[in-house]
Amino acid sequence: MQINWLEEVLKRKDELIRDTQEFLRIPSVLDEKSATASQPFGKEVDEALQFLLKKGQKEGFLVKNVNGFAGHLEMGEGDELIGILCHVDVVPPGDGWTSDPFAADIRDGKIYARGAIDDKGPTMAAFYAMKIVKELGLPLHKRVRMIIGTDEESEWRCVDHYFQHEEMPTMGFAPDADFPIIYAEKGIVDLNLEQITAADNENGSIRLESLEAGRRYNMVPDLAVAELRAETKLLLEMEQRFQQFLTDFHVKGKAINHEHGITLQVEGVSAHAMEPDQGKNAGVLLAAFLANMPLDAQAKAFVQFLDRYFRDDSRGKKLGIAYSDDMTGDLTVNVGILSYHEGKGGRIGINLRYPVTNDLEQTKQVIEQTAKPYGFSLTHFSDSKPHYVDRRHMLVQTLQRVYEEQTGERAALLSIGGGTYARSLEAGVAFGPLFPGRPDVAHQKDEYMIIDDLLKATAIYAQAIYELAK
Ligand SMILES: [Zn+2]
Repeated sequence: MQINWLEEVLKRKDELIRDTQEFLRIPSVLDEKSATASQPFGKEVDEALQFLLKKGQKEGFLVKNVNGFAGHLEMGEGDELIGILCHVDVVPPGDGWTSDPFAADIRDGKIYARGAIDDKGPTMAAFYAMKIVKELGLPLHKRVRMIIGTDEESEWRCVDHYFQHEEMPTMGFAPDADFPIIYAEKGIVDLNLEQITAADNENGSIRLESLEAGRRYNMVPDLAVAELRAETKLLLEMEQRFQQFLTDFHVKGKAINHEHGITLQVEGVSAHAMEPDQGKNAGVLLAAFLANMPLDAQAKAFVQFLDRYFRDDSRGKKLGIAYSDDMTGDLTVNVGILSYHEGKGGRIGINLRYPVTNDLEQTKQVIEQTAKPYGFSLTHFSDSKPHYVDRRHMLVQTLQRVYEEQTGERAALLSIGGGTYARSLEAGVAFGPLFPGRPDVAHQKDEYMIIDDLLKATAIYAQAIYELAK
């Protein structure tokens, strides 16, 4: 059967835009304060969930609210289940918007709103895709289910709860990242290395009272601050060397003198831990400067460990954990949190992104062994496994074909260092909604979705649903 999918979308264009706007006007930001047992993520998030469930009911889908944590809309017949994983929660709007972030104003062919591209626009596209397949009366031999998450932007408690109680789809996609297809995602580890305080700590002529940089594992710290104490003569000398250091390393920073002490600040450049090389780690740089100072043994071990194993190396080469594979590329290392306090010792929080075929147990052992001589032990290690679907899998091949037919462009398979919502499906890929070359405005001020892209994505999803479930 020959169906012009885009034509079918265009027939419903006005209605689709109107519904998308109405959906975007619900300010569905997580609100723990208004949370109740039946509305675990607050009133507005629940309102957005109810909005979709009600619309689904009107279309004649099978509708289920799973204890307010999530919901689903289902159509079709058969044992197998095709999943479309979306979410209705949004991050807080932040400042600096041109128009009200929940007005969903249209300017220059774009809908502006928090959630326009992440993820309410694409959710509405997927909803209309299901609606079109249903209205065309096409026979389906599998069930198709839109799974509606409500806590994607925070802790994924929605999908955790949902899959404890509900069926895992045979395969599926999440319209919550990029086109064409993200089929492989690195594993993600957060770990802490902590110094055990040495009882016989020898004194240094300069005391490092504290060093602080970064609050999140997955960000490159853009500010580091150290408090030091010493005799005036030593402090003056250190200040001079610090100014020289800033010049040599091309970084911004400042030294602030005060009674008996000095505060050193280094400004780096923030970046996501997916690619630490796009940033400049203020914490590691400040540690590098302090590595040559006459500090006490414990402080020295803290800064020297950072200097020796993390400076100018986001690939774990110096640590001895470098690894790369064809599917997902290089292992990456980001020192996201640095914290040292005199008398208590130091803590380093690291985010690792490791390739699909990496031996994580070995990586972990190498880190432990390397850090041990500096007085560190591994006190926290959380692992989110790599996620991928074989490129020969029917899901990948079908979505590739559909994308190519609808766009006339080659559907390259992408792999990324981040984690998309698709990893909560057993066999799931991320499929749109951002087309190649479009700026990523998710989580930014003036977030928007281009209306033509919304329509095009709807056509792609409609054909994809049909081809996967027919
Ligand atoms: Zn999202």
